[in-house]
Formats: sequence, structure tokens, C-alpha cells
Amino acid sequence: MAEVRVRSAPSPTGAPHVGTAYIALFNRAFARAQGGHYLLRIEDTDQTRSRSEYETQLLNSLKWLGLDWDEGPDIGGPHGPYRQSERLDIYQSHAKRLVEEGHAYHCFCTPERLQELRGQQAKDGGRMGYDGHCRDLSQGEVERQLGSSASHVIRLKMPREGSCQFEDRHRGSISFDYENLDDQILLKSDGFPTYHLAVVVDDHEMGITHVIRGEEWINSMPKHLVLYECFGWQPPDHTHLPLLLNPDRSKMSKRRNPTSVEYYRAAGYLPQAMLNYMALMAYPPIGDGDGDEEKFDFDTLVGHFDLGRLNMGGSVFDLDKLSWLNGRYI
Ligand code: GLU
Repeated sequence: MAEVRVRSAPSPTGAPHVGTAYIALFNRAFARAQGGHYLLRIEDTDQTRSRSEYETQLLNSLKWLGLDWDEGPDIGGPHGPYRQSERLDIYQSHAKRLVEEGHAYHCFCTPERLQELRGQQAKDGGRMGYDGHCRDLSQGEVERQLGSSASHVIRLKMPREGSCQFEDRHRGSISFDYENLDDQILLKSDGFPTYHLAVVVDDHEMGITHVIRGEEWINSMPKHLVLYECFGWQPPDHTHLPLLLNPDRSKMSKRRNPTSVEYYRAAGYLPQAMLNYMALMAYPPIGDGDGDEEKFDFDTLVGHFDLGRLNMGGSVFDLDKLSWLNGRYI
């Protein structure tokens, strides 16, 4: 079997989130258990929100937790660069290839037209999303517009009918109807890729064998699968971890819970307790051999780690329980 290669791909758009560390933890544990590699990739394609100081804080938070990586923006590796803003030529050449092969097209619709379209669709109460206005422009028209240096994006030609299915390792078979999905932007007018193009290209180029990420990305799967197919690539195995939740079962948010790893560090929580608690968010108790089922360290998790044992229920991040566990380590 090919060597296991996993990654986490956080966006440096705010203080390092506990959810980011939680995803890194499961990727790190799986890579260690399989004798594989875990790499850290920085998804900084949103230029308005990404900041280098957030990236520095992110790296420091993961290091504090002891979640190190085998390849990454600071240490390099054979598949670098590991910062997406430094890989623009790679995405642009892949987008060009998709256009040339008829899988994607230039779209010249102005923000005003798109806003009008949204307004009309909202009024009609029908399907929302891009209407494919530029999908069938003649070659001559496309060249004329490109020649006039009109601002444009590149969109993926999604199938118009039928459905796609994929096997999530834990959730079983999930299917999506194409008619509900519009032609996704792949390359923005500033030459930066969207998440969808960048994630597929990078996971392939970086040899990722297993994607382990949050369940909020499940709905992106059809777009990713269409991209894999257009490129003629085999998709990696996918596992979507349950979201971390507030006590009222809404997605964990700053308003209900401190979400920054830095907060917990400053408040005196121990990294071992944080790792242990985050592991319990999606992994059953293992025990440390002393009759304390819920207390186990990272090496114990790695020793037992089985991707098939993850629980998918959605996990309430409970500060009282974390504090209790922290007390067991002091
Ligand atoms: N940037 C995304 C995140 O921070 C990565 C999603 C993925 O792993 O594909 O959640």
C-alpha cells in the first residue's frame, strides 16, 4: 500500500481556533499510527482576511500542543511551497488546462449583473446560483472580451443533470443531485484560486492519500469530485469529523465558548489535557491503564488509533469537563 500522507489546511484568518487543532490532532495521530507523513498547508487564498501574524500564531499553537508536522511552510519539504499564495502559477495552469479541455469557461459577468440575478432569483423563489450565462459564449466572443481586458473569472462546468455519490468512510454513501449545484468559480478575477480548485490541485500534487477534515466540507464534495474526474485523478479517501459544538449544539463559536487555543494556554490548561480532551471529541475512551477511562495521552491514542472507531455524533465542547480533565494532569 502507498505510504499514508495526510494534511491539515488551516486558513490564517483569525486567532488559532480549537477546531483547527482538533483536525490537526486526528491527522497527526493517523499519520503516526500508519508510519506516514502529516503535512501542514496554509490556505491563505483569501487575501482580504489572511494575515501572516495569524499564521505565526497558528504554528506556535500547534507546536505548543506538540502537534508537529513533517512538511510545512516553515520547514519545507518535497512538495512545497506549502503556502497557497505561493502556488498561484500551479492553480492558473490547472485552470487553463480545464478551459482548454472544455471543462471550464471564462465568465465575464459583472458584479452588478450577478446582484441583479440574485435579486430576481430571490423574488422568483426558485433555484439560486449562477445561471450559466457565459457557459456557451462563442470562441470569438471570449477572445474579444479577453482582448478588451474585461475582468473575468473561470468557472467549472458542472453537470446539469444526474447525481453523484461518494462513500464517506463513516457516513456511508452520500448522494447529491447536480441540478441543485451551479457552476463554481475556480479562479477569481485577481488570479487567486478559490478553495475548491486549490484544495483538489494541492491534495493531488502533494500526494495526499487520506483527507480528514471537518464535516462542514461535505457539501463541497460534488464540486471536488467533478474536478477530480475532469483532471483524470483518483480522489483520496475522505473522512469528515464531527463539528465541535456549543452546549446548545450550535457550531462552537466565540460567543458561547472561548475558541482560541491561545486562550486555553494563557488560562493555564496543559497541552496534554487539551489533546486528550480534543481526542475525546471524536474518539471513544481508551484509558491510561489506571482505571481512568477518559484519560489518555497522545502516544496512547497513536498506539490504539483506528480511523474506523471515530464517533460521528457531533461533540459538545464542555469547559467544565475540560477543566476536570486538566485537573487529572496537574
Ligand atoms: N481551509 C479549510 C479549513 O480551514 C480546509 C478544508 C479542508 O481541509 O479541505 O477548514
